Amino acid sequence: MLDTPPASGTATPTTTSLTATQAIKAVAANASPQLAPLDASKLQMNLTSSPRAVPAPDSPEYKSSSVCTDHMITCSWTASSGWANPSLVPFGPLSLAPTASVLHYATACFEGLKLYRGHDGKLRLFRPGQNCQRMALSAARIALPVPDPAQLEELIVRLASVDGTKWLPSNTHKGKFLYVRPTLIADDATLGVQRPQKALLYVILTLFPDLSDPSALSAAADDGIRGLRLLASREDTVRAWPGGFGSAKLGANYGPTLLAQGEARQRGFNQVLWLLGSEARVTEAGASNFFVVMRSEQGRDRLVTAPLGDGVILHGVTRGSILNLARERLAVELEVEEGNYTMGDLVKAKEEGRLVEAFAAGTAFFVAPVGLIEWKGEQIKVPMEQGTTGKYAALFRGWLEDIMYGRTQHEWGLVVPEENI
Ligand SMILES: *Cc1c(COP(=O)(O)O)cnc(C)c1O
Repeated sequence: MLDTPPASGTATPTTTSLTATQAIKAVAANASPQLAPLDASKLQMNLTSSPRAVPAPDSPEYKSSSVCTDHMITCSWTASSGWANPSLVPFGPLSLAPTASVLHYATACFEGLKLYRGHDGKLRLFRPGQNCQRMALSAARIALPVPDPAQLEELIVRLASVDGTKWLPSNTHKGKFLYVRPTLIADDATLGVQRPQKALLYVILTLFPDLSDPSALSAAADDGIRGLRLLASREDTVRAWPGGFGSAKLGANYGPTLLAQGEARQRGFNQVLWLLGSEARVTEAGASNFFVVMRSEQGRDRLVTAPLGDGVILHGVTRGSILNLARERLAVELEVEEGNYTMGDLVKAKEEGRLVEAFAAGTAFFVAPVGLIEWKGEQIKVPMEQGTTGKYAALFRGWLEDIMYGRTQHEWGLVVPEENI
């Protein structure tokens, strides 16, 4: 069924977590002894004199995902001197030349992670080092300066610790989060198409709605279907391709998907399921990785997701974490396979009663069960053993949530110290 032979059971670290070595190589390839490295210990603090009120958790501000906290981190880079000292400054607009490289040539990459207020009252980031390593790889892919992942992580922690106390109050916001968006753009004012000579790194914290509640994912249609509804992409609309840049979190990957996403939303779907090629290879769902559980002809459950390797899919931190947990905690009942599969495989499994469940996985939607896929005008109803979710999605969701919100102490949950400001 799969193009790629199943992995031999044991976890291969290179496919389940971003390798530090790759990121370090990217930093090294960019560094030069004369240039100042990114150095979080040189952070200069300039606190706001006009702090804003924190909106209530259920207010429209949360849904708008355009409200940020009081501060942001900024750090500029030039090809001649390297990184300047980073600053923590009042949140506010940037000033860019109309000729800035990023505005014309999409020289931008970003990350997305969350800052959680735990049920135990502590603030945590989930595996921030993974995001920082991925940012290094994304930056390298588009000739931006590569921020040292450890220094970037330290800057994220500092911002989280300055604004977290106020914006995620421990008395009212247990179980809530802020969205962390590190961004790197070329603000070079030269209009010529060339490798950027100037760049700006910044980190903001935004209010963000909780998109992950499975019961909230029932669409307007009253057909009893719960969970995400996915509209498979048409053959003439491709998100990413081998040798492209789908595996980097580049701004350039998202703008071109918005037309298809808008059409899908208009027709009552939540996301596009991105397919590739005439064989309809299944890759990702919106800006989330996609997992499916199919029972093998021998009756074993197999968790299948598209492979990394050819650079088509994004190396999700949630994806890697789920693969790790599946291999560690479900080794007996679940086979895990990173391999290519097609819509044909899904349809066949459904027809033969072997389609067990499907879910999308990423920071924004978290682990979101999928209830329906439409492909070439045909609707494939995806089973959901527990009504609003399948059993595996529920397990992964619970395990990850326990780590993020501190019900389980785990090395993936990094506690953020809180500063009194
Ligand atoms: C960000 C993103 C994901 C999910 O990655 P996480 O690290 O799990 O948040 C998946 N696919 C695409 C295309 C993405 O942009």
